[in-house]
Amino acid sequence: MSDYQIETKCVQSGWRPKKGEPRVLPIYQSTTFKYDTSDQMGRLFDLEDSGYFYTRLQNPTNDAVAEKICELEGGVAAMLTSSGQAANYYAVFNICEAGDHMVCSSAVYGGTFNLFSATVKKQGIECTFVDPDASLEELGQAFRPNTKVLFAESIANPALNVLDIEKFAKAAHGHGVPLIVDNTFPTPINCRPFEWGADIVTHSTTKYMDGHAMCVGGCIVDSGNFDWGQYADKYPGLTKPDPTYHGIVYTEKFGKGAYITKATAQIMRDLGSIQSPQNAFLLNVGLETLHLRVPRHCENAQKVAEYLNGHEKVAWVNFAGLKDNKYYSLAQKYMPNGTCGVISFGLVGGRDVSVEFMDKLKLIAIVTHVADARTCVLHPASHTHRQMTDEQLVEAGVAPDLIRLSIGIENVQDIIADLDQALKTIENK
Ligand SMILES: *Cc1c(COP(=O)(O)O)cnc(C)c1O
Repeated sequence: MSDYQIETKCVQSGWRPKKGEPRVLPIYQSTTFKYDTSDQMGRLFDLEDSGYFYTRLQNPTNDAVAEKICELEGGVAAMLTSSGQAANYYAVFNICEAGDHMVCSSAVYGGTFNLFSATVKKQGIECTFVDPDASLEELGQAFRPNTKVLFAESIANPALNVLDIEKFAKAAHGHGVPLIVDNTFPTPINCRPFEWGADIVTHSTTKYMDGHAMCVGGCIVDSGNFDWGQYADKYPGLTKPDPTYHGIVYTEKFGKGAYITKATAQIMRDLGSIQSPQNAFLLNVGLETLHLRVPRHCENAQKVAEYLNGHEKVAWVNFAGLKDNKYYSLAQKYMPNGTCGVISFGLVGGRDVSVEFMDKLKLIAIVTHVADARTCVLHPASHTHRQMTDEQLVEAGVAPDLIRLSIGIENVQDIIADLDQALKTIENK
C-alpha cells in the first residue's frame, strides 16, 4: 500500500482480504485463538513463530488498524493502545526505567504533563520540562548523561504552539536519544513528523482519527530510524537479552521492528492497556474519512478564526492559520495544508464574560472534548483547570479568559451565526 496516496491509504490500508473473505474489516471479538498442537502454541510464546494467541498481546482487528495508521505516518511498525495516555506512557516506558531522565516540552496536554511530572516520577523516571520555543543551545542544557528520550506535541493542546520538529530532532539526536512526537492534533493528513526527523509518533486516536467522539484510544508508530544498537548501553531493554523471553535480544531478532515488538511482547503483556477490537473497528471507520474531514475542520476553523479576529468584543485569537500568529511560519513549513480545527480566544472583559458567552451558545455545546465532528467549547479555568488560581493558570499557559473552541464539520455559516448571536447578547448588556 505504501505507493498509494494518503487518501487511498485512509480508505484501503490495513485490512487486505483474501479470496472469499469479508470486504469490510471484521471485528475479531475473541480473546483466544486455536492451535492444533502444543508445540505450535509453545513456539508463539517463545516469539519463534508469529501468530495470534491472546488478544491482550495481539488481535487481527487491532493489527489491521495499527497497520493503517503506520502507513499513514510512513512508519515500519505500530500498535494500538486503550487511550492516548497509555500510548504516551508506553512509548516512554518502553525505553526508560528507574534512574533514567527524560526531557519534555512544557507545552503539552494536561494529562501528559501529569503523567511525566508526577506519575513516572514515582517510578523513578525524572522529567525536565523545556520551553518548546527555546533555542537549540538552551534545549541542549536540559539533557543529562542518563537522558533517554525527548518528547513534544506537534501542535500543543491547548496552547496550540506549533513545534519546530527539525530543531527538536536535532537536539534529541545530538544527545543520542530518540524524539517522540504526539501528532494527535494535525494528524498524518496535515503533518508527518517522521519526514522531519522524529523517531516515534504517538496519537490519541480519541480525537480526529475517531472523529465522532465514540471511542477512547491510542496508537504508537515507530519510524524504524533510530539506531538503538549504536547506543546499546543506553537502551539495554532493546539491545540486551530479555530474560522474560528466554533471553532474546529485540534488536537482533526483530531489527527495525524491535521497539514495537518489545512494547507489545513485554509492556503490553505486563500492563495490558489494550484497545478493544470493537473500538478498533469503529476507529477504522473514522480513519476511512480522515482525509475528507481534516481539511474541512481546518477550512471552517480558518473562517471562524478570521471572524473572531475581526470582532470588537474579542480580545485575542490564537490560531496558527492567522498571518499575525506567532506560529504562522512554522505552520506553513510543517503543515502547509492546515493545522487543526482547534482555536483558542479570549473576550474583552475577561473570565466572567467568557463564561457568560459560553452559556449563550445554542449549536455549539460545552463538552470536555476536542477534535470531533461537532463544534464544542470548553473554558479550562472553569473546567479542566478549575482548581488553579488565576496566577497558576497564567503560569500553566492557560489564560483565565481562554475559551477553547473546537471547530467541527458543520456548515461554517451556522457556526459563525451561533458565535455571533452569543457575542451580541453580551454586547447588549
Ligand atoms: C487527548 C490527548 C491525549 C490523551 O489522550 P486520551 O485518548 O484522552 O487518553 C494526549 N495527547 C494529546 C495531544 C491529546 O489531545
